[in-house]
Amino acid sequence: MADHRYDPKEIEPRWQKVWEDEQTWHVENGEATDRDKSYVLVMLPYPSGEPHIGHLKVYSVGDAVAHFHRRNGLRVLNPMGYDAFGLPAENHAIKTGQHPRVSTDEAIIEFRKAFHEWGVSIDWSREFGTHEPRYYRWTQWIFLALYERGLAYRKEAAVKWCPNDQTVLANEQVIDGRCERCGWEVEVKQLEQWFFRITDYADRLLDDLDTIEWPEHVKTMQRNWIGRSEGAEVKFRCEELDTDYPVFTTRPDTLFGATFFVLAPEHPDVLRLAAGTPHEREVREYVRRALTESAEERGAEDREKTGVPLGRTVTNPVNAEEIAMFVADYVLAGYGTGAIMAVPGQDERDWEFAEEFGLPIIRTVQPPEGFDGNAYLGDGPAINSGPLNGLHVAEAKKKIIEELERAGWGTATITYKLRDWLFSRQRYWGEPFPIVYDETGLPVALPESMLPVELPEMSDFQPRIVADDEETLPEPPLARAEQWVTVEADLGEGTKTYLRETNTMPQWAGSCWYYLRYIDPHNDNRFVDPVKEAYWMPVDLYIGGVEHAVLHLLYARFWHKVLYDLGHISSFEPFRRLFNQGYIQAYAYTDERGSYVPAEEVSEVDGGRYVWNGRPVRRQYGKMGKSLKNVVTPDEMCAQYGADTFRVYEMSMGPLEVSRPWETRAVVGAQRFLQRVWRAVVDEQTGAVRVVDTPADEQTRRLLHRVIDGVRGDMEGIRFNTAIAKLIELTNRVTVVGGSGTPREVAEPLVLMVAPFAPHIAEELWRRLGHEDSLAYADFPVADPALLVTESVTYPVQVNGKVRGRVQVAADAAEDAVRAAALAAVADHVTGEPRKVIVVPGRMVSVVV
Ligand SMILES: [Zn+2]
Repeated sequence: MADHRYDPKEIEPRWQKVWEDEQTWHVENGEATDRDKSYVLVMLPYPSGEPHIGHLKVYSVGDAVAHFHRRNGLRVLNPMGYDAFGLPAENHAIKTGQHPRVSTDEAIIEFRKAFHEWGVSIDWSREFGTHEPRYYRWTQWIFLALYERGLAYRKEAAVKWCPNDQTVLANEQVIDGRCERCGWEVEVKQLEQWFFRITDYADRLLDDLDTIEWPEHVKTMQRNWIGRSEGAEVKFRCEELDTDYPVFTTRPDTLFGATFFVLAPEHPDVLRLAAGTPHEREVREYVRRALTESAEERGAEDREKTGVPLGRTVTNPVNAEEIAMFVADYVLAGYGTGAIMAVPGQDERDWEFAEEFGLPIIRTVQPPEGFDGNAYLGDGPAINSGPLNGLHVAEAKKKIIEELERAGWGTATITYKLRDWLFSRQRYWGEPFPIVYDETGLPVALPESMLPVELPEMSDFQPRIVADDEETLPEPPLARAEQWVTVEADLGEGTKTYLRETNTMPQWAGSCWYYLRYIDPHNDNRFVDPVKEAYWMPVDLYIGGVEHAVLHLLYARFWHKVLYDLGHISSFEPFRRLFNQGYIQAYAYTDERGSYVPAEEVSEVDGGRYVWNGRPVRRQYGKMGKSLKNVVTPDEMCAQYGADTFRVYEMSMGPLEVSRPWETRAVVGAQRFLQRVWRAVVDEQTGAVRVVDTPADEQTRRLLHRVIDGVRGDMEGIRFNTAIAKLIELTNRVTVVGGSGTPREVAEPLVLMVAPFAPHIAEELWRRLGHEDSLAYADFPVADPALLVTESVTYPVQVNGKVRGRVQVAADAAEDAVRAAALAAVADHVTGEPRKVIVVPGRMVSVVV
């Protein structure tokens, strides 16, 4: 028996080769005036280890969108690169002794191979790794642009330092006082570091969120990270020490209710204030204890309020009252000035503290009648507030700020939680800075002609500690590249000897602008040609994990805005629309002793119970991992089922935004679907095309057009699971109706719609249907609106209680349309304007004249 069944092992490599030979996915840059473009970008992978099934998910999402846009006549940019510098490769190198360049390049080969085997429609002519000197030359160039603009600077700062990874961490890499990467407790060291003045851009980073289509929760995370609050800075004077203590408050209208004053334990004046008072010892002990606790522990809502009096007072500027000073750990150093005026009447934590210490509580906003809580945070007329009495919060704020400014006790102020971005690390595997130091230790920017500053070859890239006079400090590996460190150059003052910066840039650097380089990857004169940039930017759809909601996406937006301000690019936001895909999770199984058993050997018995080797096992849900014995690799999935099945399964696991557990058993369902699509076109016995030119029956035709219409909407909304469900319904219909063959008017659109999810089988069937060209650029089907009207409803139309006519309308017709049709049907019985027209949906229309 001749066997012409669906055989992905034969089909897939064949089409991959054709696409490669024919450069099917290559895209030329368009003309500046031609705006029919779509830049579809998936966050570039980190080439460490092997590609996993999560990679397939995110790249399949981007690929399906790219196919859909191409086939709607858009010029589509769908590029690929690698975020190659950074800690994982380097830690791997330190552990194995293998140079990070070697392990990174090996991983890149694995990723490239995987993308080919998955049939992802990438324009490979634009590929690069961020660790290539030809690329990072421009990363260095952009650094210099920021430096010359005054946005990069060095300062000594208490930096977070991981004793295990032996590197400085960005604030965002510290979670609960521990290193995000390894979990070690973080130490604090004083070091000279590079910073970016991202705070200069805080307002624009905030305001421009309104101009882009991002998920609301991501915007909220960025807003919270920037943490803008408007208010006033108010000075409280401590006469005894002859010092003014400024505080930032968002509620200057409550100043008359400020009955005490609290400093954070980190505030530099705490010990000076307590010195010589009876509380000195107690304060010292309290501060020591507080500093070992995390901000989260200290800020917890339900935590009992503790503190110690400092034995001093400050003067409340609005009423000249002397109020007591405290140190208390519920005030955090990172917020405002590290000191607060406490207004228990309007702040719950201040209220609790006041009760604990028997301090006065004065309400300055009248709570509504029946309010029986403690602090009142809402609006209302001011009370106990002298000139503010009777004013509501917003007016009271405005008036008191005016008064404070006039008296010289305060100013309107805006504060941010956002801090300047720490941009250097003491590691080997990163971009070197294009900076040298002269004999006095001052930094000097290298000229463009000296770029790139290439990373020197080193076999010993272990970061170490060197002992200084007093303290141990991390020593960057590059400091040991002695030949490289010393530079003889004429930088405008005759030939002199300079020493290179030995820190490297952090992991974020390369990914801050890579999307611009894809546009013009081979340009050695500019980082991107402005005409090409104007054509492709902004990115129309950016796809990636929500873990990048703050850092990568904030940093990239910051660089982008600076490049825009410098006139290098035309767009002020890089990513117009953002999509966050959920993760693929997994089940794991443990036996009665709690040991993991191989997940693929477990079977389910009578609903919800699981056995392995005849023994009952328990099911858990979570990560995929070797130790959990539940890893599914793309290689084995592709070998067993083919890439198309694997892709269809991942795109149909549920809404793409949601994390879902992998179920190998369910993959079979995706495979059966593709087998049915195959059988709709190919006779498995003879291999002949079983498609006929006779028209489809009315019901199938209506289903087809409803599916086309629905799939189009789902493609636009990135709801691929429901798109695939509709395609399954259509396929089932044609394979059930069957008969002598599938009508061509159904078979062709079906194949065209399956293609974004299963490109290999679709291409194969398309050619078998008699087309010589790839379907890569064939139009995506369009529904006939006349065939979309599904059902109709007949309404009896009453006039003053008597049925005078009937009207037939579409079941989903809007109420206005029903009303108009009904009035037309009974026009003979209605003269002038009816008094009332009542539409009872699906039942009747009643007209009262
Ligand atoms: Zn660490």
